[in-house]
Amino acid sequence: MVRQFRVGRRHEHVVEIDIDATRDAYNRKEGDGGCSCVWCRNLRAQFEVFVPDPIRMALAEMGVDWRKPGETTSLGGPDAPLHYTVEYAAIGREISDGGQQEWGPTWLCVSRDAQPLTLENAAKPQVKLGFLAFEVPWVLEHKPEFSE
Ligand SMILES: [Zn+2]
Repeated sequence: MVRQFRVGRRHEHVVEIDIDATRDAYNRKEGDGGCSCVWCRNLRAQFEVFVPDPIRMALAEMGVDWRKPGETTSLGGPDAPLHYTVEYAAIGREISDGGQQEWGPTWLCVSRDAQPLTLENAAKPQVKLGFLAFEVPWVLEHKPEFSE
């Protein structure tokens, strides 16, 4: 089933998602995906806490498994609180005008960062959706220098 969803802070972006194809791709996706660097492993160690219910529900409606992000990226310095962008691919497309994207902790945005992110084995147009995990504490034993 193909359905339209509104995303964005003010629901200003419209995406059209092939729900069954997306769910099927996530069922076949192995592991939890995403970056395996120590910064991102720190987020994954406490990921449950940083995926709020509205985002879990929105992703689930689209057929996206919130436990399997395609990409996570840490932002922030060694002593500053860590923030992360968390991105998912879904099978579908954006059908709004592509206006400004606004990242936040409680809503999904259409992510248009340069790096391609796709679900493997799904040769169909895909759209990238993301949110921001704010102020994530360090919970792993060893915190590296930020230059790592
Ligand atoms: Zn990483």
